[in-house]
Amino acid sequence: MALFSPLPNLALDSNRQAAPKKNAYANCHHTIPPASELSTIILGGGLAGLASGYVLSEAGLKVTVFEGAPTVGGLSKTVSHNGFLFDLGGHRFLTNNKEIEKFVLRILQGEVLNVPRRSKIYLLNKYFDYPLKPINAFFGLGLGTTSKIVADYCKERIKNTFSPPAIVSLEDWVVSQFGRKMFDIYFRDYSEKVWGINCQQISQEWVAQRIQGLSLWAAVKNAFCKLSGKNLLTLSDDFFYPTMGIGQLSDRLQEGIENHNPVSTSTRITAIRHDSARITEVTAVNCHGQKILTGDEFISSIPLTQLVELLDPPPPAEIINAARSLKYRDLIIVTLMLNREQVTDLTWMYLPGKDIPFGRIHEPKNWSPRMAPPGQTHIVAEFFCFKDDAIWKETDERLQAMTTEHLVKLGFINQDEVIDCCILRLQKAYPIFEVGYQAHYDAIMKYLKEFANLQVVGRSGKFKYFNMDHAMESGIEAANTIISKTVTTKHLREASRSDPRLSTNLASQIQS
Ligand SMILES: Cc1cc2nc3c(=O)[nH]c(=O)nc-3n(C[C@H](O)[C@H](O)[C@H](O)COP(=O)(O)OP(=O)(O)OC[C@H]3O[C@@H](n4cnc5c(N)ncnc54)[C@H](O)[C@@H]3O)c2cc1C
Repeated sequence: MALFSPLPNLALDSNRQAAPKKNAYANCHHTIPPASELSTIILGGGLAGLASGYVLSEAGLKVTVFEGAPTVGGLSKTVSHNGFLFDLGGHRFLTNNKEIEKFVLRILQGEVLNVPRRSKIYLLNKYFDYPLKPINAFFGLGLGTTSKIVADYCKERIKNTFSPPAIVSLEDWVVSQFGRKMFDIYFRDYSEKVWGINCQQISQEWVAQRIQGLSLWAAVKNAFCKLSGKNLLTLSDDFFYPTMGIGQLSDRLQEGIENHNPVSTSTRITAIRHDSARITEVTAVNCHGQKILTGDEFISSIPLTQLVELLDPPPPAEIINAARSLKYRDLIIVTLMLNREQVTDLTWMYLPGKDIPFGRIHEPKNWSPRMAPPGQTHIVAEFFCFKDDAIWKETDERLQAMTTEHLVKLGFINQDEVIDCCILRLQKAYPIFEVGYQAHYDAIMKYLKEFANLQVVGRSGKFKYFNMDHAMESGIEAANTIISKTVTTKHLREASRSDPRLSTNLASQIQS
């Protein structure tokens, strides 16, 4: 994919300049906006929306980004708390897309580290390297369990050769690839902890989206079958990380946009009006009141389900019902600040056990030494949950006590080392791919496609399991589509000087 598509050469060929038919303009309501006024409204200032805004701003176009939160970055932001910095769950940057890598490195202007990855997973009361390493796994699991894993794996391979199973769920896929024993030990608990639903209900389409970038099972396969995961990013031994946390990337994108255009934070979009298959205006609300804003192009990175609910007039009932059938997983981030130099040398620790209320921890200092004040460190724990769960409604004091208690029990910290705590609750952290979600998703996307000047981008926006690179890629693609349209419009303006009727006709074709 070309991220920065060269401006198309729009010299009209002789066929397109053919004289228009009589009455061709009679019912045309479109006008060509002057190029300088062609404006884009971007909903959401996470990485996807910011990447769109940045590319459009660099191309000299008029853009306004609206972000509901007080700061940009969405899920990829870094929180600053009494001298400690932390992401909303550690965010490593890695990609197979060289253009995105170049884009990110250019934005970060050298303020980036190459971090070695060292992760572990806590299984059966033991710590294993993550991704699993054969020797470590063999000695950790013991001969009996390893033999059972290998036997189950062979059984599935033979079974699949003669009668390939129907693959509907995550469980079907993992069992068919790795055997029942490996599923039971390695996959079931962590997957169910992350998604909050039974593995039989997690759609195999999630595997299809995830496998490109990360897979627990690719890691296992790599360990047991010695298959190298060249293109499997999760097996990568290192990653990029900005010196001051992942939020530096969003902050730099915001600065780049603000050199030319406004980024309006603490401003929520509360309605999206449309007419004749075009978005016409949005209502933006902030502490100063509300404003109705018109635009020519609209890019939405807000959750897909919310976009549907904000449309005015509302979509047909079946589209609203489809949106209500799509679910997201929420997240609580508990960060304990510690009066201690360092706890581990790890980037991540995975904790699948159901007796531990959080699923993953990380120590930001091991990602960049500038994340904690000298002589101190902090641990960030991720509680995967739904906002209707009891845990979401727990008091901050209880969440702090619970996190401390478990980290003490696991032997990571001592209670008296805890000097501070910060608790954040994030809604819609993960789109959930439940068996059957695809039909709802397809119906929504088909409906939204009707809007000629609306593009949806990003992880929540497209309801895709996007990492940062894919979120930005989708934003940049949307920007490039608009740049191409603008160049076409500009050219039409030039053409209109010689024949105004010609430009109107072509503009109507472009805009429809
Ligand atoms: C715990 C966790 C760990 C992760 N780790 C990694 C990792 O290591 N590497 C990686 O590459 N990716 C990681 N990701 C994924 C990464 O966070 C996302 O891919 C990326 O941040 C998505 O960006 P986005 O702009 O698409 O969406 P978002 O970040 O969700 O941005 C959407 C924005 O829209 C705003 N918004 C919503 N409604 C409105 C409204 N009505 N009006 C105005 N604004 C609105 C929101 O406030 C938000 O800022 C992780 C995600 C999570 C949850």
